[in-house]
Amino acid sequence: AGKEHGKNCVVEFRPDLHTQMMQRAGMRTALQQALELDEFILVYQPIVTLETGQLVGVEALIRWNHPTNGLVLPQEFIALAEENGLIVPIGAWVLDTACRQMGLWAEQFPGNALRMNVNVSGRQIEEPGFAALVQDSLSQNDVPADRLVLEITEGVLLGEDTAVVNSLRVVRELGVTIALDDFGTGYSSLGYLPRLPVDLLKIDRSFVMGLSSDRANDGTPARTVVALAQHLGVAVVAEGIETMSQRAELQRLGCRLGQGYLFSPPLPPSRLAALLASSPDGTLPFSSALSDLP
Ligand code: C2E
Ligand code: MG
Ligand code: MG
Ligand code: MG
Repeated sequence: AGKEHGKNCVVEFRPDLHTQMMQRAGMRTALQQALELDEFILVYQPIVTLETGQLVGVEALIRWNHPTNGLVLPQEFIALAEENGLIVPIGAWVLDTACRQMGLWAEQFPGNALRMNVNVSGRQIEEPGFAALVQDSLSQNDVPADRLVLEITEGVLLGEDTAVVNSLRVVRELGVTIALDDFGTGYSSLGYLPRLPVDLLKIDRSFVMGLSSDRANDGTPARTVVALAQHLGVAVVAEGIETMSQRAELQRLGCRLGQGYLFSPPLPPSRLAALLASSPDGTLPFSSALSDLP
């Protein structure tokens, strides 16, 4: 139908600027309300050693439990929250909730020394009180700093913004681990990587996908990230592992840790607790996920 209108057909499918602004304003209000009404939840995706399948940590991932729309994924609202600044209070809630959860699990399962990965946006780190916020979240929930991993994307460090880098240094001096998320997809100059406060690289899912099937993709990007991490002396975690062959190939490349649907999707806290309860020594049944063999 749009074709009859010739060049103008595009307009029909794109909300005009005013509509877009109204939608954004509406979204800001909705997100603010969601925070007040406690509609955000965290789910936790296991991170395991590739060789044994042992659970070593979890990544906290936010969901918006919307009263009518159901569970809304972060791709629907995080970018907007970053744009309108609400990521600052939302991110503070995430940090506190993740640390509180870790405190609870530490009480329930004293034998387990899980680490908790939390995603943080650049906008949060720019806030002058960021390091204090991290410290408070840890101390109020009795969580040792070396149990917390903050995941940031390469873009956050672009240009070596000194305020951000300094803030990360302070947090790192507390004992917190800093991870570069989605590594390899950004535009960071590898040249300055050695000077940045980074302890861990996460291989992006797109590179893990490339490892999957045929020889058309020889896995060079994944191999390069692993080699770079080894050269820098930092740890590496692969994300988005879905098949046994991806797992095997990553192990062959020297990657020791990973996460992905092959092992487990993100789980609500009760399911994660059940997993921990079933395995006092921390060894989980992920090593037997052989049904997925290609
Ligand atoms: P991310 O940090 O790279 O998280 C990994 C994403 O991949 C998650 O999507 C996870 O559910 C998904 N995933 C894990 N394993 C697999 C797999 O095997 N296959 C596939 N296809 N996907 C897998 P999710 O939860 O939708 O989160 C998307 C992004 O939203 C995250 O990417 C992160 O950048 C952002 N995000 C999530 N929670 C937060 C948060 O609390 N704060 C901030 N600032 N960003 C967040
Ligand atoms: Mg992440
Ligand atoms: Mg990631
Ligand atoms: Mg990713």
